[in-house]
Amino acid sequence: MNHSGTGHSGSAQASSEQPHFYQASEELYRGEMFDNTIKILEEAGKVINCDPNVLTRMKRPKKAIIVSVPVRMDDYTVRTFTGYRVQHSSTLGPYKGGIRYHQDVTLSEVAALATLMTFKCSLLNLPLGGGKGGITVDPLKLSRTEKQNLTRRYTSELGTLIGPQVDIPAPDMGTDAQTMAWMMDTYSQEIGFAQPGVVTGKPVEVGGSLGRNGATGLGVVFIAEKGLEKLGKKMSGTTMVVQGFGNVGSHAALYAHQRGAKITAVSDVSGGIHNPNGLDIPDLLKYVAEKKVVKGYPQSEPISNEQLLELPCDVLAPCAMENQITEANAGRIQAKIVVEGANGPTNGGATKILHERDILVCPDILANGGGVIVSYFEWVQSLQYFFWTENEVNERMRQVIVGAFDKVWELKTEKKIDMRTAAMGQAVRRLERAMLLRGLYPR
Ligand code: GLU
Repeated sequence: MNHSGTGHSGSAQASSEQPHFYQASEELYRGEMFDNTIKILEEAGKVINCDPNVLTRMKRPKKAIIVSVPVRMDDYTVRTFTGYRVQHSSTLGPYKGGIRYHQDVTLSEVAALATLMTFKCSLLNLPLGGGKGGITVDPLKLSRTEKQNLTRRYTSELGTLIGPQVDIPAPDMGTDAQTMAWMMDTYSQEIGFAQPGVVTGKPVEVGGSLGRNGATGLGVVFIAEKGLEKLGKKMSGTTMVVQGFGNVGSHAALYAHQRGAKITAVSDVSGGIHNPNGLDIPDLLKYVAEKKVVKGYPQSEPISNEQLLELPCDVLAPCAMENQITEANAGRIQAKIVVEGANGPTNGGATKILHERDILVCPDILANGGGVIVSYFEWVQSLQYFFWTENEVNERMRQVIVGAFDKVWELKTEKKIDMRTAAMGQAVRRLERAMLLRGLYPR
């Protein structure tokens, strides 16, 4: 690419000075998932021959906010939690990404997830940047009132650092549509009028979009179908294993089941359940609605989360936490395709092992993109006060995600690389062009 006239590239000292500057930020954000994300970025940058100055900027979040969140608990004591919002890039549009409530949330993890959001939105051709938020808290230990108090105070601490033109949160692990309704209400109360465009993943009654709740799971199924197609297979009759039975995993299992796939195992925090003849997913959903966990489901045998990953199947969909498939177990994975419903479930070393073993890994920024695609549709609908049908939402989402798959496949085939590097390569390419066109301010 010819960078001349774009204002901030091509400096002779660039590459020799980069490592020194990078050290500082590396210390700030250092952590397993962040380091892993940076490695993928560097590799992808090499593949597409990215401008070194631009690549350095891509490795650093633009802004990181840390807030203390005091919460009145049900027993009238006050506990102060720590919340984060990392705003990685706004080159392509407002920061966009979920809010995670989990006991292991750290600045480093949130920074890694924010970085992935930038490249997810870039790959999917959305007019959005990347961000992520989180609070270090076990949401299962909070009552509904405590969770509401926590959410409202966190939102108010962020103040105008979020907003429909600035940064648009959404649900992630441990948060849901109700959490977004509280965020939307708090923000609206503070500015004095209803502003549904400040968050996505809201309930439909307060300006949410039809199809948003199941969107990430549906996107996982669309990508699984594309992967299977490349292997000359169809969804109907294939076997699928799903790790995680939260919003993403349960919808992926349901939509795959509806398309004739046999879901032989699923799991959640309580452990896994296995039935080689296929689980009755609609019936399992009723069981989980009542018991809260998959454990003890009658027509199944218990299985551990580790064993579940190693079951023979056509499609393995890790839809839970990061770092589930590593160098330690990648050699034992027996799936033909891995479709990453979670963010960062397979680390860099494992990606290489699976690639060498000819297992097709459809990476997170592609495979779980259904959620943010429909978030984008929701944001547009919220700003226009004009709403689409569920079929319109699903069909438009399918077109975007399948288009991205084809783009990734093209680069993978051209450069003979794995899908993760190819997805990141395409994402870096779009962002690089935009950064060079916008130029460096002041200059
Ligand atoms: N938390 C989801 C993700 O990781 C959705 C983000 C959004 O819709 O903004 O992609």
